[in-house]
Amino acid sequence: MKVRTRFAPSPTGNVHIGNMRAAIYNWLFARHMGGEFLLRVEDTDIERSTPEAIQALLDAMDWLGLDVDGEPLYQTTRQQAHLDAAEALLSKGMAYKEDKGGMGQGECVIFRMPGTDSSFVDGIKGELTKKAENMQDFVIVRSNGTPVFHLANVMDDIEQGITHVIRGDDHIENTFRHIALYKALGAEVPNFAHLPMITNAQGKPYSKRDGDAFVGDFREKGFLPEALFNYLTLLGWSPGDDREIMTREELVEAFTLERCQSSAAQVDLKKLTWMNGEYMLKLPNEEFEALAFQSLETAGIDAEPEYAEQVFKLIRERVKTVADIVPMVGFFFSDDFEYDEKAVKKKLLKDGVADTLGNMKTIFQGLDVFNAETADKALHDFVEESGLGFGAVMAPVRIAVSGVQSGPDLAPVLAVLGRNRVIARLDRALALFSA
Ligand code: GLU
Repeated sequence: MKVRTRFAPSPTGNVHIGNMRAAIYNWLFARHMGGEFLLRVEDTDIERSTPEAIQALLDAMDWLGLDVDGEPLYQTTRQQAHLDAAEALLSKGMAYKEDKGGMGQGECVIFRMPGTDSSFVDGIKGELTKKAENMQDFVIVRSNGTPVFHLANVMDDIEQGITHVIRGDDHIENTFRHIALYKALGAEVPNFAHLPMITNAQGKPYSKRDGDAFVGDFREKGFLPEALFNYLTLLGWSPGDDREIMTREELVEAFTLERCQSSAAQVDLKKLTWMNGEYMLKLPNEEFEALAFQSLETAGIDAEPEYAEQVFKLIRERVKTVADIVPMVGFFFSDDFEYDEKAVKKKLLKDGVADTLGNMKTIFQGLDVFNAETADKALHDFVEESGLGFGAVMAPVRIAVSGVQSGPDLAPVLAVLGRNRVIARLDRALALFSA
């Protein structure tokens, strides 16, 4: 039997990372088993399932590299088939009509539960059972003539030949109903695996209020798709050893449902950021530069390529997300960058600092050659001669040339800026901050 999984989202315009994790697991399982991964767009909520919402969904999948086999199935195209199935169930006495609430609003079609206990072996949670008395008959076609989720979902899984339904454990209750429907429709019941939810630090479902929750947020914030993919895969699954950074191929190779954890998984954005930093480090230099140039362009920064490449080398190892790049390098490309107020107050507006900056300016001007080694030596010599201490010299110079207190090693920064810019910036700081 060829494994066929599917992702069956209801598009809303934003794709929650919990849903995307379900998509990733379906994709990984299908790829691991040499099967197929299908897409079904459950677009029956016409208000929310706009073309934009559907496009956002397709873009998010594309960005994460979740390639789909065959054409997506749009649930709205299947309405007639769903209604025909309801008719068939009615004619067999497995469903009945009722004017729910007796409000004269027309009749619903209601599925008759078989009245027996039901159990199934969940691929992640093990055997799950529900007593007959806890399972009520349920609506499959509303009084306005539209099919309900349960019927549409089951009918379309049958249509798509789905062998494994991997979805969130908020659907467990539904699954008991769905199994009854499969049987009534004369179809083979697929395998089910229910993923535990992802939570915040308090153990509540992870939501927008806890931080970034949508795939688009992470994309905008400069996370790399491979890092998010890796992170979401480990959110509730482990390879069984201590590997954390794993390529897509390694994940496909190692992924099994048995290794999915059955308890909730807690989102840790710090860990994701760390992981993204590891992926940033692994990027080939050309790819890093391409992302960096693109960021500059988006920010409206005009950069001379050779100069920019030197700048990128300085920050390469400090970048955790693509979004870090512009704030880290902005001062290299603009002479009237802003000064961090706190840093100015603490380090520049102090007695003696103007003298220090003035002295360093003279020293830098007097160097035969101005590069990282000579600038470094000049700073160290001055620290020693003046007896001022390291921080009292380095910090004001750094803030004067960059506006901020921290960054890559100072001497290479000065060297890349070049002597002329350094002198001009020391002058600017002297004019602004020496009373
Ligand atoms: N559209 C449903 C959802 O997003 C589908 C659930 C399922 O995977 O069967 O919750």
